[in-house]
Amino acid sequence: MGGDGPEWTGLVSQRLRCCVCGGSTDGSEDYVLVELTARFSDARQWLGAHADHLNSVLAEGFSVEVHQM
Ligand SMILES: [Zn+2]
Repeated sequence: MGGDGPEWTGLVSQRLRCCVCGGSTDGSEDYVLVELTARFSDARQWLGAHADHLNSVLAEGFSVEVHQM
């Protein structure tokens, strides 16, 4: 881990496909990893996405920024 950029995978071992368009995120500069948690359980789910695509489907007022680590 560490760093950012086209190879960053976050807390999972490999890049996940974009949950919006279904396409590959390999090499994407705007790749984001989204963690979903459940209030009454320890279950976690990870979703990968292109930030631009995620922004296009978020409710108004929400946005995703890509931060350089
Ligand atoms: Zn996408």
